[in-house]
Amino acid sequence: MLGLSAAASVYAPEVYASSVQEKSFIMIKPDGIHRGLIADIIKRFEAKGYKLVAIKVMVPSKDLASKHYEEHAQRPFYPGLVTFLSSGPVVAMVWEGKDVIKYGRKMIGATNPLASTPGTIRGDYGIDVGRNIIHGSDSVESAQREIALWFGAGELAEYDLAMGKWVYE
Ligand code: ADP
Repeated sequence: MLGLSAAASVYAPEVYASSVQEKSFIMIKPDGIHRGLIADIIKRFEAKGYKLVAIKVMVPSKDLASKHYEEHAQRPFYPGLVTFLSSGPVVAMVWEGKDVIKYGRKMIGATNPLASTPGTIRGDYGIDVGRNIIHGSDSVESAQREIALWFGAGELAEYDLAMGKWVYE
């Protein structure tokens, strides 16, 4: 039988806090908002066990949209992509949790919705690549860059999620 202190340590916040808690920039694009998918998308990340640490609705400026997608500046679809994103609104979010960057991309699906597995967000809701509903950071470096681009330091909430001890062992 576990003593009180041993039982307490199993559920202590430091146990799950020691898992790698990374952050990802997740953004519902204008098509996702006009399609009424905000609640569904948030629900998926929340139900998975991830923690929402920042969220805002905004119409991004062309400058912000250009910077966000600057790695694609030489691609033929870049001007249309920037115009589309800045047609707004978007829901910009930061989600935190173990492996949220890589696993968040799995939940989102492939860039081309028709190549996405059913059960993923793009697989369930999208058809065309230029209307693929959602963005998710693809690496630790891009997550850091994107979070700094879209949010100020004071806009990220730091807190322990009450359910954390039931998600992490
Ligand atoms: P992802 O969003 O899956 O990380 P990319 O970084 O390759 O994909 O592309 C960024 C965004 O540019 C895509 O989400 C999509 O909206 C758009 N895009 C990519 N490829 C094309 C294309 N061939 N035609 C039109 N839009 C594209």
